[in-house]
Amino acid sequence: MPQTVFDRKPANEQAAAQSWTNAREESFWLADVGPIPSQDGPRWDRSQTADLVVVGGGFTGLWTAIRATERYPDWTVLVLSMDATLGQRASGQNGGFLEASLTHGRLNGETRFPREIDLLDDMGRANLDEIAQTVERYGWECDFERPGTLTVATEPHQIEWLEGDNVLNDVEVRRVLNSPTFLAGAIERGESAMVHPGKLVREMARTARERGVRFEQATVTKVRPRPDVLDIQVADGLPYRGRRVALGTNVFPSVLRRYRWHVVPVYDHVLMTEPLTDEQWAAIGWNGREGVSDMGNQFHYYRRTMDGRILWGGYDAAYTPGADPDRTRFANNPAVFQLLAEHFFVTFPQLEGVRFTHRWSGAIDTCSRFSVFFGRAYRDRVAYAAGYTGLGVAATRFAADTMLDMVAGESTERTVLSMVRSMPIPFPPEPLRYPLISIVKWSMRRADRNGGKRNLLLRTLDALGLGFDS
Ligand SMILES: Cc1cc2nc3c(=O)[nH]c(=O)nc-3n(C[C@H](O)[C@H](O)[C@H](O)COP(=O)(O)OP(=O)(O)OC[C@H]3O[C@@H](n4cnc5c(N)ncnc54)[C@H](O)[C@@H]3O)c2cc1C
Repeated sequence: MPQTVFDRKPANEQAAAQSWTNAREESFWLADVGPIPSQDGPRWDRSQTADLVVVGGGFTGLWTAIRATERYPDWTVLVLSMDATLGQRASGQNGGFLEASLTHGRLNGETRFPREIDLLDDMGRANLDEIAQTVERYGWECDFERPGTLTVATEPHQIEWLEGDNVLNDVEVRRVLNSPTFLAGAIERGESAMVHPGKLVREMARTARERGVRFEQATVTKVRPRPDVLDIQVADGLPYRGRRVALGTNVFPSVLRRYRWHVVPVYDHVLMTEPLTDEQWAAIGWNGREGVSDMGNQFHYYRRTMDGRILWGGYDAAYTPGADPDRTRFANNPAVFQLLAEHFFVTFPQLEGVRFTHRWSGAIDTCSRFSVFFGRAYRDRVAYAAGYTGLGVAATRFAADTMLDMVAGESTERTVLSMVRSMPIPFPPEPLRYPLISIVKWSMRRADRNGGKRNLLLRTLDALGLGFDS
């Protein structure tokens, strides 16, 4: 089979292998901010009924709590999270790219929601602008910036996929960021932003607390309806009581069992370099600070941090069969870190000798349509949002507002969307699931090495609006 540029080995394979082995196995973002406790103050009196109980201490839960205080100031809001630190999962592990798209890109949205994609894109842009305004309004110190994105073609067949007003040839793109692997690129400035995810979690938690939101560490096992109240059962002790419940549990087994087939965990790996020297930065350029991604089915994403590091992640997002309810058993695969390090030095041979200080991975909540979906239960007193498929940093705010619409009983422009009212097709159970995902992944790898041509299986899945992505 023909090869891609990433099938090459870096000039100094040994240096690549040594570059990551001493890296700390933890998210740089979370280590940088320290713990953000999910339990504080006096214990919540479980005989009290909260107007809204939010389950989940990531971006979905935090946005839901903050938006609830803004939209319904008289509600009491309680956030339950099973981890000791808020944002300990995907929200503290991601690349920090905020994308306006709510549909995992325009193309995916056009395929699945052709009649409403323009509206969805408008809503996504408004959502991103409202995030920017919120950062400003509350004075969140979270390294928020809008440098734009650079998409790069590293294979000849990808060049014609580049679109927009700002397409660059090989010479031009290497002036923006100097890699011998770049054949062309496109810069897009208005539809994205960048953030330090750990700082964003910290600042959101601070604002939520200042606005009266209460936080408790508790693992929710079940929601049981009673006529006038919902019992939120937990692993330890008496149930909590709420008038409404919003579930932002992402890739974890859904508290509402009927939705457990709609999401599979896919493990995405990340490396973070040490701060680069001025000479190293001069060797690659990147003065515009754009967030970068390449264009294969298996793709990398990379970016600069404010303190002069490079985050480098993606490519070999893997589904592994077997019980993993905590979503950690299949994380941190050394073979994937090695592959990522090799690809880094193939992309930036000028940076030979640079070390990675942190390595980590996190589980992505992949659903078969690659964009957030919503569940409801118990006469709409319970709402559920999941399925962001690796693009949830911005979309979680939209999901939060949509869940609030649902549990408040409001009909809005969000609740009538077919994206909100429809569900993705669930994944089949094991033992079918693993071979099916494996053959789809094999087909995607093959397409990357075959001029981008999609085989019959991928074309059939495309026609059915199904797929596998990260
Ligand atoms: C490595 C990686 C890179 C990524 N990069 C990007 C990116 O650059 N841009 C982007 O847009 N997206 C990215 N994503 C995806 C993005 O991080 C997620 O879509 C987003 O953070 C989802 O937020 P969340 O709050 O829904 O989930 P999470 O952050 O996973 O939070 C889930 C919360 O639910 C809690 N919980 C779960 N079950 C229970 C229970 N039963 N009881 C109590 N609490 C429970 C957990 O403790 C946790 O607090 C990436 C993801 C990963 C893993």
